[in-house]
Amino acid sequence: MTVRLGPTRTYQADPDVSLADSATASSVCPFADETVDETALGARLYPELPEDPRTGRYLAGYAGRNPDAALVPDSSSGGLTSYLLRSLLERGDVDGIIHVGETGAAGGSGEPIFAYVVSNDVDQLMARRKSQYYPVSMNEVLREVRGDGRHYAFVGIPCVVTAVRHLMAQDPVLQEQLRFVVGIVCGHLKSIAYAESFAWQLGIAPDALEKVDFRVKDPERTSREYGFAAVDATGHREERKTLSLVGGSWGHAVFQLGACDFCDDIFAESADVVFGDAWLSKYEIDWRGTNVVLTRDRYLDSILTEARTSGAIELDDLTMDKVAETQGGNFRHRRDGLAVRLADDRAAGRWTPRKRVQPDTEHLPADRVDLIRDRREITRESHVAFESARRAGDLGVYLDRMRPLIERYQSRTSMPFRTRLRNKLRRETYRVLSKLRTARSNRKASS
Ligand SMILES: Cc1cc2nc3c(=O)[nH]c(=O)nc-3n(C[C@H](O)[C@H](O)[C@H](O)COP(=O)(O)OP(=O)(O)OC[C@H]3O[C@@H](n4cnc5c(N)ncnc54)[C@H](O)[C@@H]3O)c2cc1C
Repeated sequence: MTVRLGPTRTYQADPDVSLADSATASSVCPFADETVDETALGARLYPELPEDPRTGRYLAGYAGRNPDAALVPDSSSGGLTSYLLRSLLERGDVDGIIHVGETGAAGGSGEPIFAYVVSNDVDQLMARRKSQYYPVSMNEVLREVRGDGRHYAFVGIPCVVTAVRHLMAQDPVLQEQLRFVVGIVCGHLKSIAYAESFAWQLGIAPDALEKVDFRVKDPERTSREYGFAAVDATGHREERKTLSLVGGSWGHAVFQLGACDFCDDIFAESADVVFGDAWLSKYEIDWRGTNVVLTRDRYLDSILTEARTSGAIELDDLTMDKVAETQGGNFRHRRDGLAVRLADDRAAGRWTPRKRVQPDTEHLPADRVDLIRDRREITRESHVAFESARRAGDLGVYLDRMRPLIERYQSRTSMPFRTRLRNKLRRETYRVLSKLRTARSNRKASS
């Protein structure tokens, strides 16, 4: 089965394949009914671990970061993903890391600017940090490494992790080579248009776009208020706070891929360890970023806890309630929202995959159901409107179509005044506490 870039600026399975090929693809596809679900995968991989319906099987939960000031700006969150991957390379546990990095494609070439790549040493690994909200295919990289006699850690978002586990179960060569599978928490994946639409809003048209940074940190802001930066073919760089861009709120789900509407795996339930953002007031106010971490493999867990003991990383213990709480919006979309989308599609006679969530529209207040449907409309419309804008060479075509849809969605989501006040007070309290803590440790260091 091959994949190619389709009109909505993402990879699509090539329909021009034999039935045998498509049966093979279905046997590893995370959204096909032919494969077992994430609960069954977790039970097979980690039978001795307890299970939580929100997170899957778990050994331990943490929040933390790599405090190395020189490394902070170039990781998305707390930098623990790169810390762990680096440790695996340095200890000789693996020969390479299969993850996502820049392709070096020139602006205007039409080629994707990110892809799955292999990092063979620490320098390559560390040059390929940060989250890439960009479609990628593991097709080529797995063909390239398969049977080369080397061992790897594989990094992926939950659906990719599931597909890799299915593949490993069928392929003893990859099963032996992929020593560790590292998960990245995912809200949903974006098409290429996500990067292009932001860059265009900064004055860099899609054909001139050379590089992007989806997670620019700013010491003057909270970690949630990160920026987006784009660089054109002449090296000119523009940057703006992501939330100020049209489609900049993750909740609007612009350019979300279709499959993400049917995903119910938030914590990459078949990964040996998973990293995300610790979206809790206590951590959110720290501009450096903080990871939420869930471990399922004892060796990987020991690398992190030993690093805590030696002072190399900061790590707080988290209960599974707290781990799940870091992904509140994600659960609303992936569990509550999924039930509505399944019910809607079945009522309309459309095929839906078998999921662990049951179709339902009665489990939520009517305005919440409307919100879920609005969100789906924003997603659908964003792909179409951006394609029209590209054809017309006019970003306004996209912005004029999206603004009213996003405004309607926003008007429905407005939090009650009391909730906003409570959240603000909580953030301010943590901000003051954090400043006091920093001042105290600075005093200690200078005395
Ligand atoms: C599409 C997407 C959606 C996400 N949604 C959420 C969310 O809803 N909630 C949440 O808490 N966290 C989410 N994350 C995870 C979060 O953005 C951080 O990636 C994670 O916290 C790790 O941060 P870090 O500082 O430890 O990683 P870093 O030290 O910056 O290292 C990141 C590592 O991940 C690899 N990587 C980057 N992008 C990809 C990719 N697309 N596929 C595979 N590997 C990749 C890099 O190559 C690098 O090795 C998402 C990430 C992605 C890619």
